[in-house]
Amino acid sequence: DMTAREQSRFAFFSSASRDALVESHALERDLRRALDNDDELTMHYQPIIEGETIIGAEALIRWQHPSHGMVSPEAFIPLAEESDLIELIGRWTLRTACRQIAIWREQGIRDQKIAVNLSARQFNDPTLLTYLDETLREFAIRPGTLELEVTETSAMSDAAHASTIMSKVRDLGVSIAIDDFGTGYSSMSYLRTMPFNKLKIDREFVQDIASNADRQAICRTLIALAHELKLEVLAEGTETLSEVTMLREQGCNLFQGFYFHKPMPAEELATLLKREFVLPCSHAT
Ligand code: C2E
Ligand code: MG
Ligand code: MG
Ligand code: MG
Repeated sequence: DMTAREQSRFAFFSSASRDALVESHALERDLRRALDNDDELTMHYQPIIEGETIIGAEALIRWQHPSHGMVSPEAFIPLAEESDLIELIGRWTLRTACRQIAIWREQGIRDQKIAVNLSARQFNDPTLLTYLDETLREFAIRPGTLELEVTETSAMSDAAHASTIMSKVRDLGVSIAIDDFGTGYSSMSYLRTMPFNKLKIDREFVQDIASNADRQAICRTLIALAHELKLEVLAEGTETLSEVTMLREQGCNLFQGFYFHKPMPAEELATLLKREFVLPCSHAT
């Protein structure tokens, strides 16, 4: 029950924000239940392309809510970040992705590098390394098949700490990508002290690049920076051939976007990979 003070505070909310608050409490309760049931949450995988080949995939969480339908992670991850739920979700995603890597391996599918998103809280969680190590062992995962994605903003909030965590993750053999790169206005001098492997250029700079001189300049700069720092560079959210062509000309060779594939269930990706594997390679000489 609310105290009088809380009640008077609550009265200041407009009815719209009160609805939003009630709604977010309901969502939080539902998410907690979803984590227990384990059937509303699933993982989808979006292929990552090098040349014309799928070389990996990003694991993206999906929540099929019993009455609201599909709830976007953009809506529920920030909500989960405000409570202990993000720890549970973080473990669920890492474990689900590792279990999937093991399943694909048992199915004889060649190794893919699977990228898992870490929330800011998860990245700074002191138990991350232990949990990561335990999970790799549990499913006998070759660490090189796992990549962790950290957003630029969560890495920059405490650069020295971030560097330490990244080194320890790399010591386990797991690689690190900086996600949504370019949106955080980081200082380059900080960035180059951090031992990550890959830059993922945010979709914001990639979309409509062919007709936007500013975005062209930004992507060219980010790609040159990545090469300079000997980092891999990937363009997110590529939707058209003209975007891909322009980015290839600029020196980007890793792609992820609807032009190639949308995120898909694990079984669908397996089918795709098996097909690719048995077809004679059209580029073989
Ligand atoms: P992100 O990590 O930057 O993931 C890329 C997002 O871009 C995905 O949205 C993907 O579906 C979308 N995308 C990929 N290609 C295209 C394209 O060509 N066009 C357009 N319009 N969109 C494209 P999604 O799956 O809705 O995820 C949104 C964000 O939610 C992710 O952004 C990530 O920040 C977060 N997220 C998703 N899954 C997880 C998770 O398991 N854990 C955590 N902590 N965050 C997650
Ligand atoms: Mg990501
Ligand atoms: Mg991203
Ligand atoms: Mg993003």
